[in-house]
Amino acid sequence: MAELFYDDDADLSVIQSKKVAVIGYGSQGHAHSLNLRDSGVDVTVGLREGSASRAKAENEGLKVATVADAVRDADVVVILAPDQVQRIVYRDEIEPNLKDGAALVFGHGFNIRFGYIKPAAGHDVLMVAPKGPGHLVRREYADGRGVPVIVAVEQDASGDAWKLALSYAKGIGGLRAAGIKTTFTEETETDLFGEQAVLCGGVSQLIQYGFETLTEAGYQPEVAYFEVLHELKLIVDLIFEGGITKQRWSVSDTAEYGDYVSGPRVITPDVKANMQAVLADIQNGAFAKRFIDDQDAGAPEFKELRDKGQNHPIEPVGRELRKLFAWVKPSDSDYVEGSAA
Ligand code: NDP
Ligand code: MG
Ligand code: MG
Repeated sequence: MAELFYDDDADLSVIQSKKVAVIGYGSQGHAHSLNLRDSGVDVTVGLREGSASRAKAENEGLKVATVADAVRDADVVVILAPDQVQRIVYRDEIEPNLKDGAALVFGHGFNIRFGYIKPAAGHDVLMVAPKGPGHLVRREYADGRGVPVIVAVEQDASGDAWKLALSYAKGIGGLRAAGIKTTFTEETETDLFGEQAVLCGGVSQLIQYGFETLTEAGYQPEVAYFEVLHELKLIVDLIFEGGITKQRWSVSDTAEYGDYVSGPRVITPDVKANMQAVLADIQNGAFAKRFIDDQDAGAPEFKELRDKGQNHPIEPVGRELRKLFAWVKPSDSDYVEGSAA
């Protein structure tokens, strides 16, 4: 059984006694900054010159500084810029300004696991990674709840890295739900696998193939959209609440029987073999290298694939249909339907 932590296992005063610099004010950065601030922690947001995020952070009353200035003053530096830029920001602005003994906190283990950032021995290196998108991390905290976090210590220079990690996790509200102990290696590899094989890659491809199969057979695209995309949320809610068993309990016997006989026809054992190949490429660093090399070249592959995905025929059908759904309200004000990123 994994080791779990809750609010009673952590001392909030540890993080309250530190000066914290949060680098980046995006999905995770805004949530960590605001939750820590509301937990009584001294937070400065570090952003690059001319950053589009600056006004957002200032509007919340947060202190904002350049990355270098924020780091110079900080006992704890939280690196929440996108994974693909972290090593550059670290090399150019964080490492040269980092105080002796300052701790580094990550929200994902990518740069440490694949060796893109190699902190000097004197620094604690921790991870507090919420298992949910940043906007939910903020919303749950504001509602008095929390999103579960996974917590890891890669380097314990001070001897107190775990106390700091748990205190930080409590500060962002994660231990109201639960903290799960892991390692940078386990978090990085399982996180990448989950999003590639199941949550993002697997599900997106499954929806697109389902939509293509129905529309190519002559069914109306709007009906296909409802059957293979819209209803997915209702099914996932049931799975989330009570596992696959609750979902099968709630659907009709017809649907349940179809699940048993057709699921394994669609997702055949070679899909599992493909998943194992994906996992191997994560473990041996091939995926990380492909991602970072492409990013360094200006992300041509990434941009081409994003463009292709946005132009899949299911997307315009969904855009038109969602305009008609008064009850589907986007919950995140900075997502613009039809925008590029
Ligand atoms: P975002 O893409 O939302 O981060 C964008 C922020 O980073 C913006 O404030 C942007 O500022 C800033 N930024 C971009 N480039 C630089 C730079 N060169 N120097 C300084 N700041 C910069 O990141 P996420 O929140 O998605 O991810 C952050 C970390 O959290 C990653 O390690 C990710 O894996 C992890 N994580 C993310 C989750 C999520 O919910 N998205 C879930 C769990 C973990 P500007 O306005 O200047 O562009
Ligand atoms: Mg991830
Ligand atoms: Mg049906």
